[in-house]
Amino acid sequence: MENSIPMVDLHGQYLRIKPDIDAAMQQVVDSGAFIGGPAVSTFAAHLSDYLGGCPVVTCANGTDALQIALMALGLHPGDEVIVPAFTYVASAEVIALLGLTPVLVDVDPATFNLTAATVAPAISPRTRAIIPVHLFGQCCDMEPLLRLAAEYSLHVIEDNAQAIGAQYTFGDGHTAFSGTMGTIGCTSFFPSKNLGCYGDGGALFAPDAQLAERIRMIANHGQRVKYHHDIIGCNSRLDALQAAILDVKLRHLDEYSEARQRAAHYYTEHLHNIDGLVCPAELSQSTHVYHQYTLRVLDGRRDALKAHLAAHGIPSMVYYPLPLHHQEAFRTISRIGGDLSVATACADSVLSLPMHTELTPAIQDTVIDAVIQFFKQH
Ligand SMILES: *Cc1c(COP(=O)(O)O)cnc(C)c1O
Repeated sequence: MENSIPMVDLHGQYLRIKPDIDAAMQQVVDSGAFIGGPAVSTFAAHLSDYLGGCPVVTCANGTDALQIALMALGLHPGDEVIVPAFTYVASAEVIALLGLTPVLVDVDPATFNLTAATVAPAISPRTRAIIPVHLFGQCCDMEPLLRLAAEYSLHVIEDNAQAIGAQYTFGDGHTAFSGTMGTIGCTSFFPSKNLGCYGDGGALFAPDAQLAERIRMIANHGQRVKYHHDIIGCNSRLDALQAAILDVKLRHLDEYSEARQRAAHYYTEHLHNIDGLVCPAELSQSTHVYHQYTLRVLDGRRDALKAHLAAHGIPSMVYYPLPLHHQEAFRTISRIGGDLSVATACADSVLSLPMHTELTPAIQDTVIDAVIQFFKQH
């Protein structure tokens, strides 16, 4: 291979903040407090400040966050939860795990996100909650969705694993961070996420302080007082080393989002004119923090483009190759909430290009040239 371009560059990112990260980790090791302790509470407080004061409960990973959110809402087996058919499996897996029924709905082709229009026809008398997934880093169009949820008294659990730091603007001009608009927001600190640690981690955001307290109990074996278990919970905790790393990286989150946005706009500037290629759309109501830069490749040429890039040493990824209604595990346990043809078409056409905070125009030019060359030849 002439080039070796990574999909993500966690090492390059580390090198730029190495002294701060190393010192933070050493401090945890010296303290001997590896589970809980000041590193975890300090990070949770700083993240809450970042989110404009929304209470934050940390946990072990993003999938746990979603499961704990559903557990906190007191749902019953057979209750229905609406989720997009085009998403990472975790968004829907936890629904089934708790004996609830995932109801799969379609997404908007421009944003890859569910909308009030795709959700409304799927609402039944058993529907209790909606899980909007802010896929690839852009908020779902939340205002119409929140209005619909209020009308039917549905909980809204935002899957914010890919969009931390994105901001949504409501019609009256006020803005809110992704993950703080619904009943509960869930996020993941998996290393490659926009705010990633060096292992597993996750968190829940709950604007309602009482609900936040219930979430805190559930994540800690259902106890408020040690060895006194009031509700059935689970064991899900962020460890102190990860919290210390996240506390350093949180200070850089806005700068990381800007680097991703700059890189995304550079791609779009050079690729938007290509026939048969659709660059990511930006909603006027939401910022886009570009967890992924995801193209749609039309006319069945996605896999050929992917192969062409690979032959030039350029990685690309298909997030996600199968929609949930085509997954064996979901075949019998989910309900189809409407026409899912857009979700199917997205799975067949999406391709994500290298996207991370260390991209330079020089690296991107190599990617862009290879994409342009493909469309000249095909
Ligand atoms: C990463 C991710 C999750 C799960 O997070 P983990 O920390 O890996 O458990 C959930 N939903 C979406 C959309 C994700 O991208």
